[in-house]
Amino acid sequence: MSSGRAARFLDLLGAGREEAPAISAPGAKPLTHGGLRGLAAETVAALNAVGIGRNDRVAIVLPNGPEMAAAFLGVGAGATTAPLNPAYRGEEFRFYLADLRAKALVVAAGEDGPARGAAAEIGVPVIELRATPERGAGAFTLDTTALPSGPPAQGGPAEAGDIALVLHTSGTTSRPKIVPLSQANVAASARNIVAAVALTASDRCLNIMPLFHIHGLIAAVTASLAAGGEVVCTPGFNALKFFGWLGEARPTWYTAVPTMHQAILARADRNAETIARVRLRLIRSSSASLPPQVMAELEKVFGAPVIESYGMTEAAHQMTSNPLPPRARKAGSVGLAAGPEVDVMSADGDLLPRGTVGEVVIRGANVTAGYEANPAANAAAFSGGWFRTGDQGVIDAEGYLRITGRLKELINRGGEKVSPLEVDEVLMDHPAVAQVVTFALVHPKLGEEVAAAVVLREGMALTEPELRDFAKARLADFKVPRRIVFVAEIPKGNTGKLQRIGLADKLGLTETLP
Ligand code: AMP
Repeated sequence: MSSGRAARFLDLLGAGREEAPAISAPGAKPLTHGGLRGLAAETVAALNAVGIGRNDRVAIVLPNGPEMAAAFLGVGAGATTAPLNPAYRGEEFRFYLADLRAKALVVAAGEDGPARGAAAEIGVPVIELRATPERGAGAFTLDTTALPSGPPAQGGPAEAGDIALVLHTSGTTSRPKIVPLSQANVAASARNIVAAVALTASDRCLNIMPLFHIHGLIAAVTASLAAGGEVVCTPGFNALKFFGWLGEARPTWYTAVPTMHQAILARADRNAETIARVRLRLIRSSSASLPPQVMAELEKVFGAPVIESYGMTEAAHQMTSNPLPPRARKAGSVGLAAGPEVDVMSADGDLLPRGTVGEVVIRGANVTAGYEANPAANAAAFSGGWFRTGDQGVIDAEGYLRITGRLKELINRGGEKVSPLEVDEVLMDHPAVAQVVTFALVHPKLGEEVAAAVVLREGMALTEPELRDFAKARLADFKVPRRIVFVAEIPKGNTGKLQRIGLADKLGLTETLP
């Protein structure tokens, strides 16, 4: 699908009619496609004037909303965007900003949180973003006075091979790895999503996904604009406000993770009138497995098809998707290849016949060329030109993929990914902790929740709340183990090695958390 035609953010931004709304927000005046193009050009010029150009990294820490969406696109038009989760603690920001080699950090004017503090400590200059909603939702000006003026090594609009976006992905054997995604990767992925759910200029997406994660950035924001349509940017998911936004914005679709769909369903009854008024064309689900019961109930309540799709940061999001009606969508399946080629491979690197379980592999224009400065991770991840996803699956006779398990150790907490090793490292810093293994515990709503088994140093005492408080000071809330068990010894697998996968069972922690 992704031909060589246009392959940059800027080309995607060219799709919409000048006066058509591009970015909006509840209660705000929309920014038009023409306005967004102007804003992107202004942003590139403002960055270029202070020496930031193509392939220079600009970290962005902004609250979810229209400015975040617009800053992502504007910075990405001429440099490399690196959106970071605003919930990170100072220590996390120091790690990410240094690891990224960020040339600047964009924060909201007046913001004085841990990101700014971390930037000051490691000498990353701060650019302040001031919202100018009178020009339309998401519009802004940049205060770049903290940077010396002077030309960048390479200025002007980014080229197809330039890196548009870098995100960290939770690693199995190391700290989070950097995933560089080129302009061409991002453009191909946005187009794949446009094709999969047949987006047009008449579509309006209600964005409730975080805008530091690939799902919201590409499926909700970039794909909507690439179709010439509109994205309504909320401050982030809030089950109490969702139906108000739905009634006001009257979107044609939204995309979310299964836990959000469940929270929406829990409040659907009392919002029946709004649901009847807003006719959704489709509901999309991705980033974690959608229970078939949730899919069936959503379809019944909203009277719209629920399209489950399978995505990953390294693929600039979408890999497979269930098709729209009249073609069949299969509950429990993540659908058909929807952009990249998708196959299943043995541990030895052989492609397996249909119906055989193996590791899901992908290749295509949307797939990253490789992790940054990490030859070991790349050697493990690429096999014969295919990228190994670390997910296990099986493709049926009709080409539908079902995810059956996971070979990688990350914890999928309702779509939020946690690297167990990162949590181990933080807990190990506590003076009373001798050994720790962080692992996934089954959770009824989130799918998985973070848990840790801890061996204390001899003669030392520590309570679960004390260790959790210690972790909270260093880790964003979603990474803090909800359950910590103290054990005399951590059970080992058959090989004598510590194994995270299956550890919950070995510890007898099969019961779900409330
Ligand atoms: P991320 O890089 O955060 O997008 O996470 C990618 C991972 O999320 C994949 O490798 C899968 O393990 C998981 N994932 C994404 N979509 C689905 C889905 N529809 N069903 C099951 N797992 C999914």
